[in-house]
Amino acid sequence: MIDDRIEPFTFPGLPTRIEFGRGARFRAAAVCERAGFRRVLVVTTARGTDVLAQIDAVAPIGAVGVFAGSRTHVPTPTVREAREMADAVAADGVVAIGGGSAVGLAKAIAHYDDIPYVALPTSLAGSEMTSVWGETTDGHKRTARDERVRPREVIYDPELLATLPTGLAVQSALNALAHVTEAAYAPDTSPLVQSLAREAAAVISGGLESLSAGDRSFDRLLYGASIAGMCLSSAAMGIHHKICHVVGGALDLPHAATHAIVLPHVLALNLPAAGVADSILSAAFASPRPESRIQEVLRQASAPVALRELGASREAVRALAGAVVADLGDPQRGPVVVTAAEVEALLDRAWTGIDAKR
Ligand code: NAD
Repeated sequence: MIDDRIEPFTFPGLPTRIEFGRGARFRAAAVCERAGFRRVLVVTTARGTDVLAQIDAVAPIGAVGVFAGSRTHVPTPTVREAREMADAVAADGVVAIGGGSAVGLAKAIAHYDDIPYVALPTSLAGSEMTSVWGETTDGHKRTARDERVRPREVIYDPELLATLPTGLAVQSALNALAHVTEAAYAPDTSPLVQSLAREAAAVISGGLESLSAGDRSFDRLLYGASIAGMCLSSAAMGIHHKICHVVGGALDLPHAATHAIVLPHVLALNLPAAGVADSILSAAFASPRPESRIQEVLRQASAPVALRELGASREAVRALAGAVVADLGDPQRGPVVVTAAEVEALLDRAWTGIDAKR
């Protein structure tokens, strides 16, 4: 007999309005107007200013200032400079054009100065869907939650990803897949989160297949990344995110690349103890060993499969095992409870890049 019961759960809700579609960037001015922005500061990178010029040529945002200095991991001096510019131009709204770093800068401004923003993501990091913001001070990255750092609206335009190098696109997609996986086995997961995870995993896997076949349209990957961001927003993250945060932050490693390398090894550890997540990933990758498929995808894209390829020293990586375990809290919330020695062994496998094995 089928068991019809559903365990009690809570779901935090999905608060952010989305405009999705090719060319959606040209609706940025209308979105800003709907948000009530009168004096817009654009925060972006040098590359993002080209995107802004394209938008302005069709439907001008009419920004009163452009801060093109957003940097990886949102350093405190960058936050200070951007806030000073926001103050100098009396900005009442921000438009973030870029990856997780530009979105992260807009989040920091929203946190400190309560200035709302609209996000135009150009990568698959998914930060725009969460209330988590972060800042790096003297090499130490700290993150916290604040509902004010959610954007007013997100404009997902797949054409904004056309310039993303394929290796980086694959790594960024695996960053999104990490959100999906950890949400599917989180202690506070639910059938609702798992159905989002199932959709996102299938769409991301399909998008990766299209990308490896040379289709750079990015529609499915961006759609999958938006759902992955919802997953990240809706459930607690586990050991994978702790490892990437601790190791990536301490050794200043590239964010998406670190996620992509570590994920197969965490899947090999956790999926045997996480039935639903295992079935979601196995179905999405049409394989009983999705961790192996993910390493194949990385190799096909000539992307690194080993932390050593990112320039990290073996000793430095291994030495962070204790900090990862400390970050997991006591008691750990699974799905697998790990010792520092086990984490050290996992980190070593990720450093060498050997095949992820259950
Ligand atoms: P990023 O924004 O630093 O971008 C990585 C690199 O890709 C940069 O050199 C950037 O210029 C380039 N890039 C981005 N989009 C491009 C495009 N379309 N074409 C060509 N180049 C492009 O990194 P990311 O991986 O997007 O985001 C990582 C950051 O976001 C980290 O700081 C991470 O902590 C944060 N993040 C936060 C959350 C959250 O919920 N708070 C979630 C995920 C990631």
